[in-house]
Amino acid sequence: MALFAYNKFVMERIKCLIVGSGPAGYTAAIYAARANLSPVIISGMELGGQLTTTTVVENFPGFPDGIDGTQLVEQMKNQALRLGVEIRSGVVTKTDFSGLKKILTIDNKEEIEADAVIIATGASAKYLNIPGEQQYRGSGVSACATCDGFFYRKQDVAVIGGGDTACEEAVYLSGLCNKVYMIVRRDVMRASKAMQERVQKRENIKILWETLPVEIVGDEGGVNGIKVADKKDGAERVIPVFGVFLAVGHHPNSEVFKPWIETNQEGYILTKEGSPLTNVAGVFAAGDVADIHYKQAITAAAAGCKAAIEADRYLQSL
Ligand code: NAP
Repeated sequence: MALFAYNKFVMERIKCLIVGSGPAGYTAAIYAARANLSPVIISGMELGGQLTTTTVVENFPGFPDGIDGTQLVEQMKNQALRLGVEIRSGVVTKTDFSGLKKILTIDNKEEIEADAVIIATGASAKYLNIPGEQQYRGSGVSACATCDGFFYRKQDVAVIGGGDTACEEAVYLSGLCNKVYMIVRRDVMRASKAMQERVQKRENIKILWETLPVEIVGDEGGVNGIKVADKKDGAERVIPVFGVFLAVGHHPNSEVFKPWIETNQEGYILTKEGSPLTNVAGVFAAGDVADIHYKQAITAAAAGCKAAIEADRYLQSL
């Protein structure tokens, strides 16, 4: 009986716990494994992170012909596994960083004690909060063209946003769909020149400049249009489309860490300039969850590397 009571309260102890399984998380794990930190990854909800929702990645060095996003992250995972990293599925639902040992609750059940924690939880797609958006999620509203574009073959669709993601989604959809409307709220796009040029080359993409999304309309069969407003005169009209793809940016996945870790107003984790150090010793942040400016797979990977090196230094100092 006494033994049972003792075992019940012995928490699993991990030297280096990495939360998140995108390029930041896997790179941190690769470096941590090579430093003998026996890293464990808690994969999070979106296994592989945002790279798995993208098409060809052309700007990650080492792949002269580009590489599929899912394949790239799969290769990172295999590299981590080969080096002995343990990857567990699960979501961190609670944290306690008040003491030297960091306590993380996984899936509201199991508690883990970690000596060092690397937060690499990335960012998730934002929604617009306009009427119809939640109602038609999964029946016409999507935030991932590579996941759902297939359902709208030869139909008309709309992409909302003017960033790199919107351009990428529009180009991808233009290869499947009849017509793609890009709904851009300003008279310029935020996207890189290279991405904009790709959009311009596609004859079946029509850009609606200075146009605001107002409502996603449909019936029991799903979406059948998007109501938009002209930014200049406010005139509204409904464009008939069967799919609406949202590409209006991302928000950092930092909520569960906020009781302990400082973030800015948008929720990006604040780190000491140029480093992965957070306000809590032993807790490091890497990748899009802490990146206000760059948000690239390669910068996330580099940040993961720095986080593992700093975690190693920290552990050696204990
Ligand atoms: P983003 O750069 O933040 O762009 C978001 C777009 O959505 C902007 O055009 C923004 O308009 C628009 N938007 C935001 N809220 C809106 C609203 N309420 N109504 C209408 N439009 C709205 O986000 P992203 O495109 O997801 O890119 C995020 C980061 O990932 C960027 O750094 C990007 O370079 C990177 N990325 C890179 C690649 C690549 O290199 N292959 C691919 C994808 C993403 P405003 O411009 O008016 O604010």
